[in-house]
Amino acid sequence: MMARRAQAKRATSVTLNAKVKTMPEIFRAAHIAPMTPGWPLYEDAAVVVHNQSILDVGPYDHMRRKFEGPVRDLGGLTLAPAVFNSHVHLEMTHLLGKTVSGQGFVTWIKSLLANDAYDVDEPLVRSELTRLENLGCSFLADISTRNAPRLAEILAGSGHSFTSFQEAIGSVTPDNPETLLHQVQAVAESGRGACAVAGHALYSTSPVLMAAAKAASSAHGLPFSMHLAEHADEDAILLTGKSAFLDILRERGFITGYDAPGKRPVPLASELGLLDKATLCVHCVTVNDEDIACIAESRASVCLCPRSNEYIGVGQAPLKAFLDAGVNLCLGTDGLCSNTDLDPYAELAWLAAQNPGVMSLCQGLALITANPARFFGPLVPGVEALGSLAPGKAARFSVVPQSVLEAFSQEF
Ligand SMILES: [Zn+2]
Repeated sequence: MMARRAQAKRATSVTLNAKVKTMPEIFRAAHIAPMTPGWPLYEDAAVVVHNQSILDVGPYDHMRRKFEGPVRDLGGLTLAPAVFNSHVHLEMTHLLGKTVSGQGFVTWIKSLLANDAYDVDEPLVRSELTRLENLGCSFLADISTRNAPRLAEILAGSGHSFTSFQEAIGSVTPDNPETLLHQVQAVAESGRGACAVAGHALYSTSPVLMAAAKAASSAHGLPFSMHLAEHADEDAILLTGKSAFLDILRERGFITGYDAPGKRPVPLASELGLLDKATLCVHCVTVNDEDIACIAESRASVCLCPRSNEYIGVGQAPLKAFLDAGVNLCLGTDGLCSNTDLDPYAELAWLAAQNPGVMSLCQGLALITANPARFFGPLVPGVEALGSLAPGKAARFSVVPQSVLEAFSQEF
């Protein structure tokens, strides 16, 4: 149905009439990507909405015959579920443009720590969250080292679903691991998110503390997240105990002594019992085939942050190998301390452009819709309703931007 083609603008999420209507509303678009496994990318399609929920989705003619109701024609747009950003550091939103790029991890972390890295700018965070909502983003997994309760409060007051991770770092393990989990009343009341605990990384969070953080998450049925295999220094620290980065951590008081475990990141994570279907491994750049097989077998999910890796200059994760291994892949932007924006679609466009022909459009969209919904859905209240356009799901949409369609060479 090419005649209805109109230039897709970077639009905005499609807004619904807030009033409860007695009749369903039919949204027609040139293309709809339902992101339900086995469902096609529909051409000249419609999604039928009632009371903020999806009644049905399919070819327009079929939906029009099946349902009575007003039609809103969105023209040549490609409609998809609202998208997920599976790894951000909102705490560092004020650091946009204030760190060095492309010179490796140690140089980057030095430039990061030269700033007031944890001096969260709440108005800036709120405006960024509003901007993301207008871009069709509906979920963020936020990592915070020093300000998790404040950010959880901000997220609970936003329109987003979310997970607010308090990051465990260093070697001090509390007697009661429950204290690693922050409690924010507004989160429980929102019904759209969870407070959880993350580990920073295996070189900066002691094995005892990392295991305690994972145990606290498991005990509460919560997701767990950690940076894993992000850069070559990480391998060097774990294998030899020698690295300029380790010296920085010592100077800052994050660690005192250090006994190198003599193992690379993924085997060590596996040995510590950190990898299971409730764990999200972030980055996974310095992985080999055995590491990928280990992650796949554990059923842990992986969150790629390709533009952050490029910004810092640590290389890129092996996208095709992860896809071939059947790992549940998600996508995150990381923070504005190592990226230029927090837009999941911009991240996907960059990844697709760097990997021509590796993914179909639907495979790519899955990284910011169905896959993170598969990971977070069973663990975080309200998330099961997101990630796909199917009967019973929430009527939360995004519009696939032209930059993404072009990156996938998708011609509509
Ligand atoms: Zn990160």
